[in-house]
Amino acid sequence: LGSAHDSRHGVQTNPYLFFHPELLKQAEYRRRLEDDLRLAVEQRELKLVFQPIVDLRTGLLAGAEALLRWQHPERGAISPEVFIPLAERIGLIGEIGRQVLNEACRQAAHWRQDGLDIYVSVNVSASQIPEELPPESILETLRRHGLPSQAIALEITEGVLMGNISVVQNWIAQLRAAGLRIYLDDFGTGYSSLSYLKRFPMDTVKVDKSFIMDMSDDHTLVDAIITMTGSLGLTVVAEGIEEIEQLDLLRAMGCGYGQGYLFSRPVAAADFMATARRINTDMARSAA
Ligand code: C2E
Ligand code: MG
Ligand code: MG
Ligand code: MG
Repeated sequence: LGSAHDSRHGVQTNPYLFFHPELLKQAEYRRRLEDDLRLAVEQRELKLVFQPIVDLRTGLLAGAEALLRWQHPERGAISPEVFIPLAERIGLIGEIGRQVLNEACRQAAHWRQDGLDIYVSVNVSASQIPEELPPESILETLRRHGLPSQAIALEITEGVLMGNISVVQNWIAQLRAAGLRIYLDDFGTGYSSLSYLKRFPMDTVKVDKSFIMDMSDDHTLVDAIITMTGSLGLTVVAEGIEEIEQLDLLRAMGCGYGQGYLFSRPVAAADFMATARRINTDMARSAA
């Protein structure tokens, strides 16, 4: 074929090329995205948005989940479902996680000063535990912002519980002993959720939004999760509530807390106060 001498066209025509050009493109894309992510972290371009968590019994705002956003200068918004795994792979998750916790604490302290007594929950990746986010450094961050321990909750997924059992148990136990709440996120999507709840004592489970979305067809599963976790003394947050019918069903089942587009999409910190006020006045109106 004689294409080897023409290096400019080698990628397209060389039959000995190991990678399919499409794959090569993907690897190249990924490498660029990784470089861009490093830069974005250095330049603090990642931003948090906050989504209300509502007490379904009173209708009042209880907390806010901090969710990370990356607005890429050329590629637009990139989902955390894409860049968080990428950050884990290239060893950036530690730095990102510390920035997220710090910023979440800063906001929580700010809102408390303005009289909004809510907690902020922070997502933690399996690869942050324990070295990248030791309990002492979490507590130190809270102290630095003058926050009580109940001002921050930490959301972990079952992936965390697949790590070294005693190390993870210690991490959870130390934080809970200090007064922080630990939430099990995306509950029901993993393998053996029930046994995990016995082995790793926690405070709250967040029922994955896929179950809430399926509720109009069948709500026996959600009902069972609420009953079961309630009998274990756990609080439940339902994720992904979009319809009033879902809310009514969840309330009737005794679900304690909820989160979803029905109440509010995640909003920028600057807009959160107005969102909080709207949620709390809606409630006052419906109670009147
Ligand atoms: P998650 O922690 O389970 O967060 C809930 C996701 O559901 C968020 O997606 C939120 O925007 C979305 N959501 C909330 N209400 C509704 C609704 O009513 N309908 C629908 N369709 N979706 C709803 P988001 O922000 O894209 O985050 C995706 C995932 O990325 C998170 O899932 C979490 O696992 C991860 N993530 C986000 N921020 C961070 C972070 O700071 N650190 C780490 N380690 N992971 C993060
Ligand atoms: Mg979460
Ligand atoms: Mg979730
Ligand atoms: Mg999720």
